[in-house]
Amino acid sequence: MKILVTGGAGFIGSNFVQYSLREHSNDQIINVDSLTYAGNLENLAAVENNPNYRFVLADISDRAKLEPLFANGIDAIVHFAAESHVDRSILGPDIFVRTNILGTQTLLDLAKQYQIAKFVHVSTDEVYGSLGDTGLFTEQTPLAPNSPYSASKAGSDLLVRAYHETFGLNVNITRCSNNYGPYQFPEKLIPLMIQNALADKALPVYGDGLNVRDWLYVDDHCSAIDLVLRNGVSGEVYNIGGNNERTNVHVVKTILEELGKPDTLIHYVQDRLGHDRRYAIDATKIRTNLGWSPKFHYESGIRETIRWYLTNQDWMERVHTGEYQNYYDKQYDKR
Ligand code: NAD
Repeated sequence: MKILVTGGAGFIGSNFVQYSLREHSNDQIINVDSLTYAGNLENLAAVENNPNYRFVLADISDRAKLEPLFANGIDAIVHFAAESHVDRSILGPDIFVRTNILGTQTLLDLAKQYQIAKFVHVSTDEVYGSLGDTGLFTEQTPLAPNSPYSASKAGSDLLVRAYHETFGLNVNITRCSNNYGPYQFPEKLIPLMIQNALADKALPVYGDGLNVRDWLYVDDHCSAIDLVLRNGVSGEVYNIGGNNERTNVHVVKTILEELGKPDTLIHYVQDRLGHDRRYAIDATKIRTNLGWSPKFHYESGIRETIRWYLTNQDWMERVHTGEYQNYYDKQYDKR
């Protein structure tokens, strides 16, 4: 199979490219990424010389640049490229609409024109909004996004659905819970906290720290997407999650414990605007219909991830561009 992966230089995309080349040695991967602040080709150093891998620098909204790739023949698209950080979407939603909605629509249109056999759209449980103390998101849960990020992802989900209903495009939408693992940009909870703890800096935790997320190791997300790509039923949505609900402060305390740092580094800061209280996924459909199950246990996976960031501090250092630093200052240091 010749697979066009978008956003393959980001956190999950780069893990997926490596996963695919490892698991399917006959497949070819074309990675299209515009290398925003979150895209890092260093994440793909291990595969850059693989003859089945090719990188193309392009924006997913740039139809003219993408068209030759489609004209050369592609069997499937796995679409990760997105603006992905909720806090950034609160500071500046425009780019979220441009990339997540218009970019997705550009890809869908090309997929329709060139009759691409499968379009897998990688989405998020955040499109369902927030849960109370009980209950789980199923594929039937109504979309009720609360942040500009999740609203833009919900918009892209609906366009994907529409291209299936209207034009018969063979699509799947996956909605996964929070991922953790190597190569995550250090604005996200786990790498941010590891980095601050290592520097003995305050660990900024939103609100009372009791917001709940359902954590999944990134490789388990990749294996689920891979199954959907090969066996997903056209037009279906698949929720992906590992039943690992943890409060944010629990995750932060695990990091401190693993690094031998005191809880006094935790610094509760003003809550994120519109902060969803709880996400939790019912993954029965993908487990039952496609036979997926996660391999990694949260307690060992999170500790392995912490060790990865410890042994790859040079990676972390290099990710620290001026752009990221400006953003970081605006977000946390000035509170
Ligand atoms: P990320 O921010 O780490 O990576 C995004 C990638 O997309 C980067 O390489 C970036 O350069 C690229 N990109 C952004 N705009 C682009 C554009 N206009 N054209 C081409 N490339 C562009 O994101 P991530 O955490 O790896 O998330 C990947 C996907 O998975 C997203 O669609 C996100 O909504 C979804 N998702 C993420 C999580 C999570 O926990 N991180 C959970 C569920 C779903």
